[in-house]
Amino acid sequence: MKYTLSFITIFTYILITLPAYSFPRNDLKPGGIAIITVAPSNLLKPSVTYQKKSVAVIKGNQNWLAVVGIPLNAKIGQQSMTITLASKKRTTKTFSIKDYPYRTQRLTIKNKNKVNPNKTSSKRIEREFFFKKKLRNTFTSNTPHFNFILPTVGRDSGRFGMRRIFNKQKRNPHSGMDIAAPLGRSVKATEAGRVLFTGNLFFTGNVVYIDHGNGLLSLYAHLSKIIVKKGQKVNRGQIIGKVGKTGRVTGTHLHWSVYLNGNAVDPRLFLPIKNRDKKKQ
Ligand SMILES: [Zn+2]
Repeated sequence: MKYTLSFITIFTYILITLPAYSFPRNDLKPGGIAIITVAPSNLLKPSVTYQKKSVAVIKGNQNWLAVVGIPLNAKIGQQSMTITLASKKRTTKTFSIKDYPYRTQRLTIKNKNKVNPNKTSSKRIEREFFFKKKLRNTFTSNTPHFNFILPTVGRDSGRFGMRRIFNKQKRNPHSGMDIAAPLGRSVKATEAGRVLFTGNLFFTGNVVYIDHGNGLLSLYAHLSKIIVKKGQKVNRGQIIGKVGKTGRVTGTHLHWSVYLNGNAVDPRLFLPIKNRDKKKQ
């Protein structure tokens, strides 16, 4: 009896102290995340597609949950996704997204070729556009974890989703989060995963892509140094590179992006609230 009791006590203690599987924040906006119940967890894992792309499906306590990345250019209003159960039964589920007032950021870039590229650079940009699209749409079967950490320490210098104007010309909205930090400061993997790509691209400069599984990826740009190699497994917090100013930049900083089902989503939605809302946008 005595032993049984202490066993129960220890078991309960372990249960309480084990970190619970954490999900990102559900935020139904362009560039946000929709967490949708798709099937009871006693069924086999269903597959889910949104805008014809596979979506991360995670086993919760009672249900399978789809973790859907909503694109920044998504239309406000109803969105739909397709659920295919292991029995091949197919259903559709909808969710609704609201508009969000992303701010406008005006930047001056000294290197004019990074804003109005010459012919050679334009060819390179086009090639890299398709290559980056392919990388973003990587979908592996590994179960991702969402206990993200900030990849470096520094000043918040550019929020996700900002509408951007470079040298008075409109460009794509900001696909990540900028952290201004000194040259050479360590950049860490935000979660465990496998290095999908390392190299130098026109806009991102020296860049590392990490595949966390099920279409969850993270990207670290403008690095002065890359420390990891393609195919290498990394742990959360492992140093993967150093802060730099390569690519299209106004100064030394880390650009950090997070992708879900091929869409760049707000990285702050993966961080604990204390990191997420330190500064109001
Ligand atoms: Zn950036």
